[in-house]
Amino acid sequence: MSQNIFSNLNKYNQSQRLAHIRYDIRGPIFDKATELEAAGHKIIRLNIGNPAPFGFDAPQTVVDAMANNLRRSQGYSHHLGIMSARQAVVEYAKKQCIEGVTTDHVFIGNGVSELILMTMQAIIDAGDEILVPSPDYPLWTAAVGLSGGTAVHYLCDEQADWYPDIADMKSKITPKTKGIVIINPNNPTGAVYPSEIVRSIVELAAEHKLIVFSDEIYDKVLYDDNVHYPTATFDNKVLVLTYGGISKNCMAAGFRGGWLIVSGPVSEAKRILEGLNLLASLRLCANVPTQQAIAVALSDDSQIKSLTSSTGRLSIQRDLIYDMITQIPGVSCIKPKGALYLFPKIDLSRFSFDDDEEFAFDLLSKQHVLIVAGKGFNYLYKDHFRIVFLPNETLLSDAGVRIGAYLDGRRV
Ligand code: PLP
Repeated sequence: MSQNIFSNLNKYNQSQRLAHIRYDIRGPIFDKATELEAAGHKIIRLNIGNPAPFGFDAPQTVVDAMANNLRRSQGYSHHLGIMSARQAVVEYAKKQCIEGVTTDHVFIGNGVSELILMTMQAIIDAGDEILVPSPDYPLWTAAVGLSGGTAVHYLCDEQADWYPDIADMKSKITPKTKGIVIINPNNPTGAVYPSEIVRSIVELAAEHKLIVFSDEIYDKVLYDDNVHYPTATFDNKVLVLTYGGISKNCMAAGFRGGWLIVSGPVSEAKRILEGLNLLASLRLCANVPTQQAIAVALSDDSQIKSLTSSTGRLSIQRDLIYDMITQIPGVSCIKPKGALYLFPKIDLSRFSFDDDEEFAFDLLSKQHVLIVAGKGFNYLYKDHFRIVFLPNETLLSDAGVRIGAYLDGRRV
């Protein structure tokens, strides 16, 4: 029998497109934690912003809207989403003073994650560059890479409350740059950008005719008196894609509900809207039971307001872990103004480990606390880590004590 000339090729190789794609929030250290749990150890998981396992419930009205409409949710919906959900997002946009949004410019998705992947696929050509923050929420860098583009990271400056360094951003614009990603409020730093910063980014986008991708999934997770300024309100001549959802504002991450608002010069962006329509059609529709809950979710933000008020559970937990972490000699942190995370810095010269990854791995092995190294957020420096402050006070204090004890043991 003649030998098949292709028999030496390994057909079971994964796509080379995945070679540089990372998602360390569920990466090798996460796998190690799962292994330790299987061996009977109790792990304090501070790695993922998933509210439900820590005892946060979605508002009852949201759950009811879904449950009471299950029978009406058995078929595929319109590819952009059911009308009541899209109308509610249009109303939400109006309330935020985003001009000219119609139900044709709103796309409902299975979480913001799907919409990020969909928009990058619809817009990026091979060789296109997208400016992405460093540190970032790593799906952004991954989505650009998966779509054949290049993520060019601009620095968010810890010395300046983690605000984007506009000069650095500007210096990285080339003829290949197609858009800028902003995450505001920010994961992982907890920064909430003042209006001057958002305005400067929008001005830069206007000057170079760039698209702004504005991830605003934490727009209601704000502490103290911090205010969120929606990017799309600054200049209606700039094409802005705004992403929002119910995973964090409504503590309903498992429902997988999100939306995309396209605003600005939409008539010039007709081809992009057509591309988004095509991709939305290809995936048929977002899950319909969740879509039934979006209007209700958007009509009432009392739960998240109460959780983030000075006496609310999220504020109390933020303050607790911030105080504990910043009392550890050799560790510093900018206090988060929004979102669900702390992104502390470790002074590596004072400890006997080499970098954030060694720290994260060893902390897990020795103290059974799972955090994510800064490298997992495409941060350029190797001396940060992210903590999720969703666990209750008892669990968070335990984690803080263990992190302190671990670092005490590694002091030089
Ligand atoms: N964008 C940011 C900044 C996030 O932190 C997350 C999840 O943690 C997402 C998007 C994904 O959200 P969703 O649950 O809507 O897919």
